[in-house]
Amino acid sequence: MTTTATPDTYFTRRLAVKSAPLLIAGPCSAETEAQVLATARGLRALGKIDLFRAGVWKPRTRPGAFEGVGTAALPWLQQVKAETGLPVTIEVATPRHVEDALKAGIDVFWIGARTTVNPFAVQELADALAGTGVPVMVKNPVNPDVALWAGALERLERAGLRDLAAVHRGFSTFAPSKYRNAPTWMLPIELKTRFPHVPLFCDPSHIGGRRDLLLPIAQKALDLDYDGLMLETHPDPDRALSDAEQQVTPARLGEILQELKYRYRSSDNADYLNKAEELRQKMDVADREIVEALARRMALVEELAEYKKENNVKILQLDRWKEIFHTRPEWAEKLHVNETFVAELYKLIHIESIRKQTEVLNGRPVDGIQHLGPGL
Ligand code: PEP
Ligand code: MN
Repeated sequence: MTTTATPDTYFTRRLAVKSAPLLIAGPCSAETEAQVLATARGLRALGKIDLFRAGVWKPRTRPGAFEGVGTAALPWLQQVKAETGLPVTIEVATPRHVEDALKAGIDVFWIGARTTVNPFAVQELADALAGTGVPVMVKNPVNPDVALWAGALERLERAGLRDLAAVHRGFSTFAPSKYRNAPTWMLPIELKTRFPHVPLFCDPSHIGGRRDLLLPIAQKALDLDYDGLMLETHPDPDRALSDAEQQVTPARLGEILQELKYRYRSSDNADYLNKAEELRQKMDVADREIVEALARRMALVEELAEYKKENNVKILQLDRWKEIFHTRPEWAEKLHVNETFVAELYKLIHIESIRKQTEVLNGRPVDGIQHLGPGL
């Protein structure tokens, strides 16, 4: 939600008026006039949608898939505006798209995940958009790279565009996952710390790729203080020409929005504030103990490294590492701490232990962990 330092932009103004997450919904693709209008009417009836989305030019991974109807869909979106009063947004990927969409009076544009990856394409769009004053949403790049996402926002800012928002739609990874695109929540949070003035929206449809995941992903986004949601909806989802498995009817979307719990950023209840403060102070003490324990452990690592050096023994001792990786999560489970969390923590501790030992054995400083990868 908006903060005191928030600049006055299209999105922040709407957020301030609404004082609730912005809701963007519509079909993955505009397919026919009837489908677009049926979706828009269904959404209008929900009474809480802020922006109608539809893909007009569809970037598809392989040729031969439905690539959108193109400019033929623009008059249908004008009709949506005229009939429902909803502002409309489409994806633009080329200066030509921008030109056509501006002529058709499209209110808001978004840059898709496959375009954000390409700085040449983003720069061309920034140049085409300069001076138009059109609000632009920037989806994260398909690959888990915050710098590219940030770079796209910077290119638009340098072109003088101020009405910006970021959309988190998940990242492609090789790792098997229940998600279509891994959410890797650390990355949008990192973007938010770098661009606190840019509202952040979540696109649970492309993260989940499945209808049953929309609610839990959307809930998590709201709990992480996202400013809005973008969701795909279709009057007959099973027959959608693109992304059928992740689309729901406007009526089902209404139920999902109803089931979401909208929580506050804080509370002015004195009991809550006192108790939260007390628990945070106890956590400070616990954290100090954790850091002290890490200091003790790393001092032992250093001592062991000196002995290895004296005896010309290699750093990596796979059997010892296997034992640690097996026992620590077991200890965690007995203490009701999540085993996977402790296993991940020990991967980091092991990396740091190897780094420290490398320093001792070779007598040269070695860089620490600089970057948390997509697994975290
Ligand atoms: C879309 O929103 O329809 C779309 C193509 O999304 P993305 O660029 O996130 O894949
Ligand atoms: Mn889609």
